[in-house]
Amino acid sequence: MNEDFVIAARDIRKIYSNDGKEVRAVDGVSVNLKASRSLAIAGPSGAGKSTFLHILGGLDRPTSGHVVLDNADIYKLPDRERARIRNTKIGFVFQFYHLLPEFTALENVMMPLLMKHEIRNTKYEIRERAAGALKLVGLAKRLNHKPSELSGGESQRVAIARAVINSPELLLCDEPTGNLDSKTSESIYELLFGLEKTLGVALAIVTHDENLSRKTDDILRLKDGKIHPAS
Ligand code: ADP
Ligand code: MG
Repeated sequence: MNEDFVIAARDIRKIYSNDGKEVRAVDGVSVNLKASRSLAIAGPSGAGKSTFLHILGGLDRPTSGHVVLDNADIYKLPDRERARIRNTKIGFVFQFYHLLPEFTALENVMMPLLMKHEIRNTKYEIRERAAGALKLVGLAKRLNHKPSELSGGESQRVAIARAVINSPELLLCDEPTGNLDSKTSESIYELLFGLEKTLGVALAIVTHDENLSRKTDDILRLKDGKIHPAS
């Protein structure tokens, strides 16, 4: 395998059985992604985009196929080892932010580091790092706000800061602007593309938005779980 790739997915299939009826959610999809490169995963609702993204991120075992991250075939690893890779090398951003409502922006961003077992940093260092990540996403003035006091765009910025706090190699986003107006969406995309370059991450974004897929380096178009001929 070419070691330049941060992630390579080979012939991925995910087959569900819904009331005895077979659903081929992902049906033979392969893709590669390098550092500082972006990929849009586009296609209609039900095309298999989220399923494929979860498989890339080590969250959902494929029925068959391989996902290789940093030369490790992640679904051949023990669950614990795959979880460790997921927590250290991959950042996730979802449509609905998934922030903890009781905690401030700063505390939400600190969370992945506080939950790490092999923690060597002091709480002060973690706080400083989280504050730095919030500054990076343009929220230096919102550190102590709770999610209910933030706009949708600000909430997504907090979620993005949380996703990059561990310096991941791969950033996976599932319709990150699906709940935002077009102007805010634009600024979130700019932020994501900026992080792709400054942090050198490989960036994959699931989207309905044709404008976005024109801005990424590559597009994977899915339909009925298969790569669409137009891609
Ligand atoms: P998209 O994100 O493109 O809208 P999904 O990946 O969510 O598509 O779903 C692809 C297909 O797989 C759909 O037909 C969906 O109903 C089916 N599917 C997704 N998750 C499950 C599941 N856990 N069990 C059964 N079917 C599922
Ligand atoms: Mg989806």
